[in-house]
Amino acid sequence: MLKKGNKLYSILTGSCPKCHQESMYVDQNPYHLGHLLKMNERCSHCQTKYKIEPSFFYGAMYVSYGVGIAFAVAAFVIAFLIVGTSLVNTFIAIVATLIVFMPVIMRLSRNIWINLFMKYDPDAVKN
Ligand SMILES: [Zn+2]
Repeated sequence: MLKKGNKLYSILTGSCPKCHQESMYVDQNPYHLGHLLKMNERCSHCQTKYKIEPSFFYGAMYVSYGVGIAFAVAAFVIAFLIVGTSLVNTFIAIVATLIVFMPVIMRLSRNIWINLFMKYDPDAVKN
């Protein structure tokens, strides 16, 4: 099971990379597009500042390239190899997948990016 303390937990839930106590995002649902990239300034539990430096999250674009490829490959395998559609329809399926999952891909990339720089610290929250 996915537990707090595991980097994957923070990446998949978008929680604070340091204490895993709360979401980094103002709105947890990535499909509320107006709030897609709105993040809290700091974690209210451990005071971690998410934007380590100005434009920190521009680096997430490198990650989103890889994440996008992963989604595209998954769409290809499902459409072409499993369902067996034509190449043209497979291409359409890949493009549609990338568009539909765009908000998820963008957030996943940010989560992976920030988790490259921060580690889980069980002592971050002082009670
Ligand atoms: Zn925190």
